[in-house]
Amino acid sequence: MSEVAACLSLEDKIESVLGDLLEEYSAEHDHPWIVGFSGGKDSTLVLQFVIEMLLSLPPSARRRTVHVVANDTLVEAPLVAKHLDKCLARIRTGSEALRLPVTVIKTSPKADQTFWVNLIGRGYPSPSRTFRWCTDRMKIQPTSHYIRSQVASNGKVILLLGVRRQESSTRAVSVNRYSNGGRLNAHNDLQGCLVYRPIVDFSTEEVWQILLQRRPPWGGTHRDLVTLYKNGQGGECPLVIDKSDAPSCGTSSSRFGCWTCTVVVKDRSMEGFIESGQENLEPLLEMRDWLAEIRNDPTRRMAHRRNGKVTYLADGSLIPGPFTLTARREIMDRLLEAQMATGEVLITEDEVEHIERIWAEDAAFGLGAAVAEPADSEAVA
Ligand code: SF4
Repeated sequence: MSEVAACLSLEDKIESVLGDLLEEYSAEHDHPWIVGFSGGKDSTLVLQFVIEMLLSLPPSARRRTVHVVANDTLVEAPLVAKHLDKCLARIRTGSEALRLPVTVIKTSPKADQTFWVNLIGRGYPSPSRTFRWCTDRMKIQPTSHYIRSQVASNGKVILLLGVRRQESSTRAVSVNRYSNGGRLNAHNDLQGCLVYRPIVDFSTEEVWQILLQRRPPWGGTHRDLVTLYKNGQGGECPLVIDKSDAPSCGTSSSRFGCWTCTVVVKDRSMEGFIESGQENLEPLLEMRDWLAEIRNDPTRRMAHRRNGKVTYLADGSLIPGPFTLTARREIMDRLLEAQMATGEVLITEDEVEHIERIWAEDAAFGLGAAVAEPADSEAVA
């Protein structure tokens, strides 16, 4: 925490953030704002401040567009996905009613790059710490694509993130590394994108205190958010914009991530939802555990990689390829059973079509033989 921020009362800190936002929004340039919104507490607080600042201005001075951008991996925990959709709908209608220049956008992975198309279609093994193929395809690329499109139309954009030093020691290091000490910092990967972290020096307690004291200007209350955290035991999976954010994805045992995440050892948030009365979600927890279990089963992995090559480690042991076609069909059957049992949409028809097309191509090229040796590394390309 900066020394100045540490000396301020909470009211003074809030005034200081609102003043900073107003000053930046009133600057001479026309660069639009993009608020990275996950539906979690930190990005909700940033949006709360942004909308309060906009409302403090006369309508004629609200001249720059504010894009509220959320990402849906399509494998979000159902309660989290519903909360996000509800929030986005409220923000959209609330902003329209208040005549605010706010655009609400939900990005998602490309149709041929979703979790199930890669895992069940192409046979990518369930993600692990050493082979985490999902974050870039499902989180970084969809949002980056939207930001780049806005940079292309506007020259530059200001990206507002609910990043806080206190989130974790990893986050504090990353904030310090990418901060020049000023309000706006060039994004690490996205040219023309300037990052603004308005609540970087707020503590977790302060974030909750402010949210509990204020109503969202777009309508409703923050009570749903409190319940979600209480039941889900925890952390949040913030909008992931670049690889420096990626270590936080799937590595903490208590955050809202994809319900399919096999990178975490245990899905504590899903366990929390079930313990708090959502027993219908139990098949998801069982499916996730099973996906983690089968990833190293040699009888379910191909000998060949998807490019037809067979690769070996220095000690001569085989590096297993993707899941076999039989295993992929088995995963699809289990997923459809879980879908039926939970009554939740777990896979879309579009994904099923993509998967069937890939299976047909793989069968035509004879990709399907199982590995005979233990799996301890990955190869799918
Ligand atoms: S939460 Fe897990 S499955 Fe989802 S993108 Fe992150 S690492 Fe991958």
